Amino acid sequence: MSTRLVVIGGDAAGGSAASQAKKRRPDLDVVMFERGRATSYSACGIPYWISGTVEREADLVARTPEQHRAAGIDVRMRTEVVGIDTDKGAVHWRDLEAGTEGTEYYDDLVYATGSVPMRPPVDGIDADGVYGVQVLDDGVALRDELDSGRVRRVVVVGGGYIGLEIAEACRVRGLDVTVVDKSATPVGTFDPDVGAAIAEAVRCEDIELVLSDGVAGIDVGPDGRARAVVTESGRELPADLVVLGLGVRPNVRLAREAGIPLGTSGGIAVDQRMRTRVPGVWAAGDCVESVHRLSKQRVVVALGTHANKQGRVAGINIGGGYATFPGVIGTAITKICSTEAARTGLSEAEAEAAGYAFVTAAVDSTTKAGYFPGASVIRVKMIAERFSGRLLGAQVVGREGAAKRVDALAICIWNEMTVDEVLSLDLSYAPPFAPVWDPVLIAARKALEAVEADRG
Ligand SMILES: Cc1cc2nc3c(=O)[nH]c(=O)nc-3n(C[C@H](O)[C@H](O)[C@H](O)COP(=O)(O)OP(=O)(O)OC[C@H]3O[C@@H](n4cnc5c(N)ncnc54)[C@H](O)[C@@H]3O)c2cc1C
Repeated sequence: MSTRLVVIGGDAAGGSAASQAKKRRPDLDVVMFERGRATSYSACGIPYWISGTVEREADLVARTPEQHRAAGIDVRMRTEVVGIDTDKGAVHWRDLEAGTEGTEYYDDLVYATGSVPMRPPVDGIDADGVYGVQVLDDGVALRDELDSGRVRRVVVVGGGYIGLEIAEACRVRGLDVTVVDKSATPVGTFDPDVGAAIAEAVRCEDIELVLSDGVAGIDVGPDGRARAVVTESGRELPADLVVLGLGVRPNVRLAREAGIPLGTSGGIAVDQRMRTRVPGVWAAGDCVESVHRLSKQRVVVALGTHANKQGRVAGINIGGGYATFPGVIGTAITKICSTEAARTGLSEAEAEAAGYAFVTAAVDSTTKAGYFPGASVIRVKMIAERFSGRLLGAQVVGREGAAKRVDALAICIWNEMTVDEVLSLDLSYAPPFAPVWDPVLIAARKALEAVEADRG
């Protein structure tokens, strides 16, 4: 039986795994390495701390190193794991403050190193003033820059949801903000028609959107700082600060070097219990790949909601219990300025790539009864399989009260329901919350009509 657990990475996945394992097996020695300055923090909250909506950095921390230590976990802060020897069951570490190095032996290892922001291979990308945002320390560095008072113009490269959330935060601080994205609509995980609604919402907040134009390079001043983003079409976008919002990739360098197998998607290959293919080595969070329950493909989906669950599953199994992570269906939600957007299941492009034949339906309705004060427009889109009418995907965009409706649809997709069955659901109704026909039900009705028309 395992007596010593080593965890690499002390945030969502690593922190959850360490806590669960220790809770179930108090006799287990647990050592958790974290190269940053915080443990168990909410990276998801960084944009709201940068904007000032969340006042204190400390509010983003769910569990400090001291709290982990009080629970019996030996936390090594500012200590980076620099190598793994799976034959010897050992990790090699470096203390980033003291400069010392050492080796720690394990019976079980949890690899939970998260992901790293994508950096396009263009000139100037490593200049001062170019920031990726992934861990809390990145957020601290970015906020320090903004607090310095020398930043007036921000260019965000990439219009993914993290890029747009940071763009909004900078706009709330009164800065001039431009977002540049290669695609015709931002947040490429949404279908273009929903993306167009998001683009409109972003522009309404006085954020300049440069679309269908990628980054060609960063112009760097004589002081070594970025001073403009140059686009592929030759536009020069002046910038005192550049933020990368091009998405992330799994942080798997150490795993690859140690011979821990990766999957087809580039994330670490794990089974449902979060075991890698190397005995005694587990992995969880942004660095692993998951099974998509609809496309049956292996996918890397870097979301905190999965990282916490996967870390918990690994910890329960290491602690002698039994738990599984059953896969993902692509549910995600974001707020961009005053607009909320959410999705679940497959987008049109994903459904096509997975080989489904489908019909779509989209409806515009209101978040409350149309006559009720504060009612605002909500658009619900559904993607249903031809003939069977099985709900394959849904996207929602609108003002306050719109996006969380996607959760009901996520449950429908998880349970493989048809749009006919969705239409019969006993959903709640009162004028302050919904029209008598909830937008979800109206969309299901439209989708059913589309399925029936297609059947002929
Ligand atoms: C701005 C922003 C907004 C987000 N918003 C949302 C949201 O609204 N909803 C959502 O579900 N998700 C959101 N996410 C994604 C979510 O934060 C991540 O999916 C989640 O943090 C992943 O957890 P993790 O433990 O796998 O990795 P991480 O949180 O990246 O943690 C990995 C940790 O490992 C440490 N580490 C890495 N390598 C080593 C090493 N060699 N030695 C020691 N330590 C190491 C790192 O310092 C880091 O602290 C957001 C992310 C960002 C950046």
